[in-house]
Amino acid sequence: MQGVVPDNSIPDLIPASMLAAFAYCPRLCYLQWVQGEFLDSAETVDGRLKHSWVDEAEDPVPEDFRPFHARSVSLTAPQVGVCCRLDLLESDGQKATPVEYKRGHAPKTPEGLYEPYQIQLCAQALALRENGFSCDQGVVYFIGSKERVPVKIDHFLIDRTLALIAALRSATKNGQIPPPLQSSSRCNRCSLAGVCLPDEVNLLKQLEAESKCESWQNEDIRKLLPARDDAVPIYVVGQGHTVRKRGERLEVWSHDGGKVSEARLMEVSQVNLYGGVEITTPATVELMQRGIPVLHFTHGGWFEGICEGMSHKNVELRIRQFEWASDPTKSLSIARQIVSGKIENCRTRIRRYDPGQPADVLELLSRLANDAEHSSSMQTLLGIEGASANSYFSRFGEMLKADEDVFFFKDRNKRPPRDPVNAVLSYLYGILAKELFVTVLAVGFDPYLGFYHQPRYGRPALALDMMEEFRPTIADSVAISMFNNRELTKSDFIRTGIGTSLTPDAKRAVVAGYERRMQKEIVHPVFGYKISYRRVLEVQARLLSRVLYGELKEYPAFVAR
Ligand code: SF4
Repeated sequence: MQGVVPDNSIPDLIPASMLAAFAYCPRLCYLQWVQGEFLDSAETVDGRLKHSWVDEAEDPVPEDFRPFHARSVSLTAPQVGVCCRLDLLESDGQKATPVEYKRGHAPKTPEGLYEPYQIQLCAQALALRENGFSCDQGVVYFIGSKERVPVKIDHFLIDRTLALIAALRSATKNGQIPPPLQSSSRCNRCSLAGVCLPDEVNLLKQLEAESKCESWQNEDIRKLLPARDDAVPIYVVGQGHTVRKRGERLEVWSHDGGKVSEARLMEVSQVNLYGGVEITTPATVELMQRGIPVLHFTHGGWFEGICEGMSHKNVELRIRQFEWASDPTKSLSIARQIVSGKIENCRTRIRRYDPGQPADVLELLSRLANDAEHSSSMQTLLGIEGASANSYFSRFGEMLKADEDVFFFKDRNKRPPRDPVNAVLSYLYGILAKELFVTVLAVGFDPYLGFYHQPRYGRPALALDMMEEFRPTIADSVAISMFNNRELTKSDFIRTGIGTSLTPDAKRAVVAGYERRMQKEIVHPVFGYKISYRRVLEVQARLLSRVLYGELKEYPAFVAR
């Protein structure tokens, strides 16, 4: 019995639950075990709640072989190479029987029992045998129907379990993420479908194999990820305000002691604090525990930093990011797609909003997008991007239908912006940069190491890389709409000797306009399903990770229709 230990965290051993995940889908196991991905679904939350009583305490296992029942028993089996935590261990004094609790109802016949459950029990039985117990049967107890379904530990099941252990070892040793399942109904119930993107990755691989680069809608793509988040960011702009936690709510109080607003914690995805806004320690700790980041900005909207809980555990992705970033050829291959996508999106803005739509400008942008895609060096790419920006911003003023004396646009200027249009653009670019910063961090990247923007102290280069293709589609689009819809007036701007800034009310209005855009659902140009812009950013970051893992050959930039 010396193998019975109170903890199952020895990394060389495969947890029986991970082996079950591998039997369900090798990719799911890899995402969870190697890359540390975990997302709750309604089923996982329900399962955890229903399971909670068996996890509450660990019972001691008697040293002699008298009959006993013990909950939450941890075992290691170094020879087989597994570890496990048994929900319940029953013994009649002769034989031991592991009991695994599962949500839901028992199948109509024992043959209908899900293979992953059988594998998990077999791994537990092998661990028991290695620890001196006699075990030839396990039991799955279904909480929903309160039924016990026995599982015979025969040599067929043992052979299958040992083969899966060997296959899982080999998959993790190779460092190669297993491919997504093809049109499998298992994906419909998978909590990591939004991370895995099975249909999306399969489609992009197929397009690459067929050397197709044009966008097309595919009705076979299932929308396995939610179109948008239920939780949304909150922004606190008022000077002297304080954010506090009260119960399940976040409250914003003004410096004179009045409550300004409140939000339910479960509906908050991030907290953005501008200028002299304070946050209490209890609120900060609660947000860290819930994985909700707190972002700090200067009064003018410059992103200063982030406070968050433990960072993403996906070390493998960061290792690959460093490898790719230090390889000029690989970096260039990503940068080319990013810049080309950005130029295409600038062209789309002009097609949509510029009544003149000069053919020569559209043609030039089209050519520059193509040149960017085939650019031979980073230097050339920078030149192409500069030329396209000049051409795009030469038409930006034409896209504005506001009072020309007040809201004009001659050229792009910044730090500080000299006119209202540039002030709004700078403010929006700041918000968008922070959005991408949080997105790439959540996916597991290091935001400071990019492929196009070169590393510089304090510069979130990867967030800036990923922002390029969305500048015209999100930030410029919000600015143009707000001016054209007269949502901003002359009194919304403060002119100083050196530049122009927004009043606090104008900042709130711009943030509201930005949030409307981020929550707007569009039809994805490649996948054909409806999705919010905020979710699009996450999908793009995940697709970038698939390039670094070698699943996709090229980064598929988001190109709006
Ligand atoms: S979504 Fe499908 S392919 Fe992806 S991990 Fe889940 S089950 Fe496997």
